[in-house]
Amino acid sequence: MPPVNNAGSADLDRASAVLQGARAEEIMQWAVEQYAPNIALSCSFGGASGMVLVDMAVRLDVADKLEVYYLDTGLLFEQTYELVSEVERRYGIRVSAFRPDQTVDEQAEQYGDKLWERNPDLCCSLRKVEPNFAALEGKRCWITGVRRDQSRARSKTSIVSWKPGFGIVKVNPLALWSSSQVWEYIRTHQVPYNPLHDKGYPSLGCTVCTRKIEPDSVDPRSGRWPGFAKTECGLHMNG
Ligand code: SF4
Repeated sequence: MPPVNNAGSADLDRASAVLQGARAEEIMQWAVEQYAPNIALSCSFGGASGMVLVDMAVRLDVADKLEVYYLDTGLLFEQTYELVSEVERRYGIRVSAFRPDQTVDEQAEQYGDKLWERNPDLCCSLRKVEPNFAALEGKRCWITGVRRDQSRARSKTSIVSWKPGFGIVKVNPLALWSSSQVWEYIRTHQVPYNPLHDKGYPSLGCTVCTRKIEPDSVDPRSGRWPGFAKTECGLHMNG
């Protein structure tokens, strides 16, 4: 596996190219060797990929070398919170929660009621992006479950890249995986997952911005921010 000496350099592109042929487990192992203990692994507990990564980290015996975290917007589904607890119990790991500065009520006082219905970009910025800065503070590497097949906006996802907005190396071990591969892994290893995935919600965010999708929908993220052109909360956008 290629060593990386300079974040933000061509080294990362080279590493990404070489790792294209590696298994996801090898990519995670490479990231740990390069950056531990300054690694954060984000898991939304509202998508299947993140669950694979958590299970993989435990199987590789590297879960204690990274910080597993989620962004608690205060508006997540009850099933999402229950899954966090289940994962902590089952794997014996601690999952960190990062929360916005303001409660939902405080946000409503400053910005008006139901900001997500008027300005979801600002709402996501306050309740997700800013807490993510706190989650990544002091870290050198951010492991995520983003995959190319999830949406057009994610179709060029690199395995390793420099994330300028957060000033961190981002590693996506499942970038080249398909949804079928994710679910095969989950079934094979009996990985816990959000029960709402079986009820028409392949991708879950906040309750107020997530809808059930049609069974024949080809876009698994089409239930997010219905009524808006928005497809990303801002965490995984470039810039
Ligand atoms: S998903 Fe909706 S409610 Fe949640 S932070 Fe974004 S805009 Fe706000």
